[in-house]
Amino acid sequence: MSLLRSARFHTTVAQLRQLPEDGIPELAFVGRSNAGKSSAINALCQRKRLAFASNTPGRTQALNYFAVGAEPQIAAFLVDMPGYGYAVADKSSKESWGRLSGSYLTKRQILTTVVLVADIRRGIGPLDEILLNCLRDDQRLLVLASKADKLGRQQRTTAVMAIVQAIKQLRPQLPFEVRALSATTGVGLDECRSLIERCLRDTPAQTLAIQTGAATAH
Ligand code: GDP
Repeated sequence: MSLLRSARFHTTVAQLRQLPEDGIPELAFVGRSNAGKSSAINALCQRKRLAFASNTPGRTQALNYFAVGAEPQIAAFLVDMPGYGYAVADKSSKESWGRLSGSYLTKRQILTTVVLVADIRRGIGPLDEILLNCLRDDQRLLVLASKADKLGRQQRTTAVMAIVQAIKQLRPQLPFEVRALSATTGVGLDECRSLIERCLRDTPAQTLAIQTGAATAH
């Protein structure tokens, strides 16, 4: 069975001190609210409602952990981060996104891969840029240019190239890949799935060293 297919809910983390202490590799999904993050997670994991859209303003801004690997073992965690950029966000939910998610992205050493879901028609927006600036150079980035079915083949290629250029300009040192994806039609799905599974399997040696050396990685 594919690694992603084995995904199951593990825990919800609302505060940094609740983060799991096991040192199991983590891969986080992040993106602007409504970018298609939940649909992408569900399609990648071949599940209908593993992740569900939580774009109701004021709803708990928590990290949702899903475990992957043959049960009862956990090979890695997929972490569904709250969407950012609510049109009508209340102040407290905006602040808590920054506090929990910002610290998580920048300080969590075991977080080696960040998957940014961005609507292919919008590309990298100002809020995505803030996110990209938070990433560490020892993390790798995979951008899923979502809702690819909304564009024709040629426009899709152009949009992906624009995303590549935007990231190169903003973060020249960051290793990254960009792929078009449609959760609706399945365009790009197999390729995105294999890329993510590869990231989950190859935890860089550097990360493992950090992991063994530091309980403070949390
Ligand atoms: P989230 O807020 O980032 O989790 O976004 P959702 O996954 O809830 O999707 C937001 C909206 O975009 C919903 O109306 C989805 O049906 C739609 N959507 C998501 N993925 C796709 C896609 O691949 N193609 C199309 N056409 N619509 C999509």
